[in-house]
Amino acid sequence: MRSAAVLTEAFRSRGLKVTPQRQLLFRLLEANTSHPTAEALYAVASAQMPGISLRTVYQTLNDLAEMGELQMLDLGTGAARFDPNLDDHHHLVCDVCGEIRDVHVPGADLLAPTGGTQGFAVTSAQVVFRGHCAQCRVNP
Ligand SMILES: [Zn+2]
Ligand SMILES: [Zn+2]
Repeated sequence: MRSAAVLTEAFRSRGLKVTPQRQLLFRLLEANTSHPTAEALYAVASAQMPGISLRTVYQTLNDLAEMGELQMLDLGTGAARFDPNLDDHHHLVCDVCGEIRDVHVPGADLLAPTGGTQGFAVTSAQVVFRGHCAQCRVNP
């Protein structure tokens, strides 16, 4: 995801309003590695700007995803997770608390199914490692 300042310009050039609420969300997402849900981001945002609505959070996240600034991930944790990291990367997912970490997997782009792709034109492969994070291993 690009910086809050650049995103402000990108939104304006598309005729989208850039309110203080949206600018707060841009700042909260910039370099955010927690893969927040919309609700988690809303909780942090409303602590800093009481009165921001969950609807604004959803709308802003959807706009950013449509603009290709944010990845929307379904990693089986119950709600969509939002990831501003657009680099080629993969994920560690904690089955207990839902924590998600970025990891790099050398050779992931070379992965291919045994027996070929059955006519699919594969465009990407996502590797998800599931298990228990360090915190949950200590306090199960
Ligand atoms: Zn955990
Ligand atoms: Zn990620």
